[in-house]
Formats: sequence, structure tokens, C-alpha cells
Amino acid sequence: MSAAAFECRRCGHCCHGVGGIIMTARDRERLAEHLGISVAELVERYAERVGGKIRLLAGDDGYCVFFRQGVGCGVHPGRPDICRAWPFFRGNLVDQASWEMIQSDCPGVDGSAGHEAFVREGVDYLYANGLMHEPGEETPHALVLPDELKRRNRS
Ligand code: SF4
Ligand code: SF4
Repeated sequence: MSAAAFECRRCGHCCHGVGGIIMTARDRERLAEHLGISVAELVERYAERVGGKIRLLAGDDGYCVFFRQGVGCGVHPGRPDICRAWPFFRGNLVDQASWEMIQSDCPGVDGSAGHEAFVREGVDYLYANGLMHEPGEETPHALVLPDELKRRNRS
């Protein structure tokens, strides 16, 4: 049996940076419920609205406001779809060069498995976890797959 094309090493690199964690309405409801607060309070305290999208804030350390050093995601059961889907983002699935580039940021991506195996595993994972999204004003483009990948999974 071949090794997984991706297996998270829990290094936390993907939780570092500003602006990448966009939340859909479903994400906001799930995360607010996890935190035991209202959606309005979630957005007020932990997010900002930029260009029609609502995204999580980063702390002074440059990590997501919910990242805990030495622990990882502090809201893991309630985390947004974009966190669940990484590294199986549209760009990394459709573009081999992007997949090659993310290998230096995400040690969980095994380059030796090959891009085809990464795509196969990724599309299976996205479907199995209900992470397929249609284009929409609030939807991160990274979560919208092109038709050829949707067809691939059905065959
Ligand atoms: S960068 Fe990759 S290996 Fe590290 S925590 Fe994120 S998904 Fe896991
Ligand atoms: S919500 Fe959790 S998994 Fe997502 S970026 Fe923040 S700390 Fe990382």
C-alpha cells in the first residue's frame, strides 16, 4: 500500500499569516456555537470584514487568533472549512507547480507520492468531509473545484 500523499505533522505553519482564514456563514455558525457565543460576537471579537468576505484576525505573533503555541488549533472541532480543506486547495489540485511550492511550507505534503496521488487523495477527502463549495460571494475560491476534478471523483 502506498504512503499517504498528505499527513499533517502538526507544525502549525498553515495557521501563520494574516487574512487567509475566510469564513462562510456555515463556518461562522459552527465556530460561534463551538465557542458558546453569538455569530455577531464572534465577528466582533475575532474577525474582520474585508472586500465582502469575513476573515479571522491574527494575533501579535502573526498566527491565527485561535492558534496556541505548543498546542495547535484552539478551536479544532469548530474550525472553518478552509482550515479543514488545507492543503487540498483548488490551486494545489489543478496546478502541479503550486503543489511543488507548498511542500516547503507544509511538511505534511509528501512530494514523493506525486501530484496525481495528491489530487486523488485530496478530492476523495474533500467529498468525504463535505468540503465541496459552489462559487459565492463569501466562499473562498480555494474551496471551489473545477468541473474536471468533480468528474474525476464520480468515475
Ligand atoms: S503546515 Fe501542513 S503539516 Fe504543518 S500543521 Fe499545517 S497542514 Fe499540518
Ligand atoms: S482556526 Fe485553527 S486551524 Fe484554522 S488557522 Fe486558526 S488556529 Fe489554525
